[in-house]
Amino acid sequence: MQLQTQALHAGYEKDSQGTMAVPIYQTTAYEFRDVEHAANLFALKELGNIYTRLNNPTTDVFEKRFATLEGGAAALATSSGMAAIFYAIANAAQAGDNILCARQMYGGSLTQASYTLKRFGIEARYFDVQNPSEIEALMDGKTKVIFFESLTNPSIDVADISAITAIAKKHGVLTIVDNTVATPVLCRPFEYGADIVVHSASKYTTGQGLAIGGILVERHDLVDFIRSNARYPQFNEGDESYHGLVYVDVPLPLYTLRARLSLLRDLGAVVSPFNAWLFIQGIETLSLRMREHSRNAQVVAEFLEAHPKVQKVNYPGLKSNSNYANAQRYFQDGMSSGLLSFEVESLESAKRMVDATKLFSLVVNIGDSKSIITHPASTTHQQLSGEALIACGVLPGLIRLSIGLESTVDLINDLKQALDA
Ligand SMILES: *Cc1c(COP(=O)(O)O)cnc(C)c1O
Repeated sequence: MQLQTQALHAGYEKDSQGTMAVPIYQTTAYEFRDVEHAANLFALKELGNIYTRLNNPTTDVFEKRFATLEGGAAALATSSGMAAIFYAIANAAQAGDNILCARQMYGGSLTQASYTLKRFGIEARYFDVQNPSEIEALMDGKTKVIFFESLTNPSIDVADISAITAIAKKHGVLTIVDNTVATPVLCRPFEYGADIVVHSASKYTTGQGLAIGGILVERHDLVDFIRSNARYPQFNEGDESYHGLVYVDVPLPLYTLRARLSLLRDLGAVVSPFNAWLFIQGIETLSLRMREHSRNAQVVAEFLEAHPKVQKVNYPGLKSNSNYANAQRYFQDGMSSGLLSFEVESLESAKRMVDATKLFSLVVNIGDSKSIITHPASTTHQQLSGEALIACGVLPGLIRLSIGLESTVDLINDLKQALDA
């Protein structure tokens, strides 16, 4: 089936009431039939609901639907995108290991990798997403993950996904792709060799800025890559915390299974059933919205490119952009999502311009139906040093826009008056 159809139907089987809308199962726990049933569920001899920290029927529909959209085998929803990223990495790496990350990343992912993972003994090594040839020199026997964004936030680069996954496969290293900005409507990283896809559902998935959530998706047949792979003993040897369970021997998608049974069980960043329900509503219109976000952003990018006070526009849908070829190659119909950034002369002119906008809201979010303006150097990337800022493409005069679903006539009028202010 096509993605538009899957977005409306995948993962939901109507219950005895025939409800068209997916019900919200707002519950903490579930009754067992008897002691044996309970014991079987805990021992994985039977699959079923135990406790909402581990699984929930509403969340299950969200997970199945999202996995289908990505063309993956299974998914695990989390309470935020950051939690999904942490679980995706912590499932593969532990103290003493290292991960290779694209330098051009979401601010929260950069601080997680550089500071928090470091405290847990996991070292992050950085490569330029525009230059995958840097990757091999960073790799060693302790490398467990290559992590990058398909469409980077906020520098707006399009990764050469196939080039990166080819290097990873050669060395038996897992790739994790953050597909938040592209969404499965534009790009399906599994088709280009990715192993795990993560998302912040807080952005285009919810679509109207309604809720925080995340999701981790694994590709089909990942077990074949992990079985006997010396980098990942945790999947090939018995899990002490689960009666010696060996994940490669379980006939279920193993990456999400282990993330659920150990990480979600012990760390508990579970999504609420209500938020999972909101994400299901968002998915129903995702493909329509992504087309419109992309169309609007293209019009705004072309306006900005022609404006004398704008020094540079970063939008992969522009022919002048260095990412244009990758966008045409990896993104459906060349759609390039709603995120764009541009540079004005200085920190001062950026601040003046941002403060002068009226229709754009000054907010650190993206993917809302309402248009948003952000000044990364003073907000999302404030914790980074000047040198680190430049390395990840955040210059003082850089302004980021998340183009919403308003009329482009009104958006352009607002930008015009703000640039002239
Ligand atoms: C927002 C965002 C995240 C973090 O997601 P939260 O839901 O805010 O935790 C991760 N990656 C990218 C690309 C994002 O835009």
